[in-house]
This record gives sequence, C-alpha cells and structure tokens, in this order.
Amino acid sequence: TGGPVPGKAARHRLTVVSGPSGVGKSSVVSELRRLCPDVFFSVSVTTRPPRPGEVDGEHYHFVDRETFDAMVAQGELLEHAEFAGNCYGTPRAPVEAALDSGKPAVLEIELQGARQVRAAMPDAQLVMLLPPSWGELVDRLTGRGTEAMEAVQARLSEAERELAAASEFDAQVVNADLKTAARELLDLVTGEYTAFDDS
Ligand code: 5GP
Repeated sequence: TGGPVPGKAARHRLTVVSGPSGVGKSSVVSELRRLCPDVFFSVSVTTRPPRPGEVDGEHYHFVDRETFDAMVAQGELLEHAEFAGNCYGTPRAPVEAALDSGKPAVLEIELQGARQVRAAMPDAQLVMLLPPSWGELVDRLTGRGTEAMEAVQARLSEAERELAAASEFDAQVVNADLKTAARELLDLVTGEYTAFDDS
C-alpha cells in the first residue's frame, strides 16, 4: 500500500511451496503465517475428507467430486491435481486479487500443481521443502497415525517422485528446524530481508 500511483500497487510475485507429504509443509507454512500476517495464503479446495481438527474454509474448502469437477470445467482453478486418490485445486480469483493488490501470495501444493503454476505464471517462484533425510520422512509419515497403511504407502511413493524433482525448483529449504526453515522461506516469499520477532 502507499505506492506512488494511487490504487495501483505493483503486482507481487507468487511463491509455490512444495515438498513431500510428511516434510512438515503445513507446520512451516503456519510458522510463516505467524511471522508475516501480511502474506496471502491460498485455501485450496479438496475432495479429501477433513482430518480431525481441520476447519472448512480455513485449512481447506471441503467439496464433493461433482463440485470440484464443475470448478475445473468453469476454469475457476489456477491449477489442480489428483494426489493419493483425492483431488486438490487452487481457487484462482483470490490469488490474483492478492497479487494485484501488491501482496506476496503463497500456495502450498504438490508437484503436478507446481508444474502447472510454472507453465501458467513463468515468474512464479518455486520452493521445495526437503526433509533432513529419507529415514526421517518415513518415520514422520508412518508415525502420523491418521492414515491407513495403504494411504501411507501411496504418500511414500509420491514422496519419492517429489524429491526426484527438486532440481526443477528455484530454491530448496531443508526442514531440520521449523523456525529456521520458516525464516528462510519468509525471505524467499517477500523477496527481501524482513525483520522478525524472535519470541
Ligand atoms: P493433505 O491431504 O496431506 O492435506 O495434502 C496432500 C498433498 O496435496 C500435499 O502435498 C499438499 O501440499 C497438496 N495440496 C494441497 N492443496 C493443493 C492444491 O490446491 N493443489 C495441489 N496441486 N496440491 C495441493
């Protein structure tokens, strides 16, 4: 806000955060949200059922398959993908509105979606979150306890595919320490050094 041309802020760059399931994406993104309330975080639509504690409209917009397909058909999604048997997508309008108003915007999505964003918005910045090691990732996924064994298997094979694509990304952040990873990500998202509160 407060740019030289009233009502016309410079469009900000979009940041896409990807990384295998279990790497701690949502924790890192929550910490980023705490560090920088001015960043726009996209809320995806999904056909996956809510996990305990997930709130509709906050963590996701939970929709049925018919609603999801209609959004795709009407071009309402910036990108969409099927992941471990469920559909996920990013509503286009809120992201465009945030970027146009000069705010940084963050999408936390999987690999196929990241590739679609790259194709649709060549200036988007793609960041991959990496686990400290493969063993750690396996431990986190099997220890989560919210998914059936079959679903864990599906997520592990997706994880292998995602990690193999790390070199397609503009930057990689290793999530060994939550706060350190969030601060590295913050610098990438805002594109500048930003002071953070140390509490
Ligand atoms: P989860 O079911 O664990 O919440 O998410 C599964 C995967 O879907 C994660 O890798 C997450 O980043 C990804 N995801 C969440 N929302 C979207 C979205 O809108 N588009 C795409 N392509 N992936 C998403």
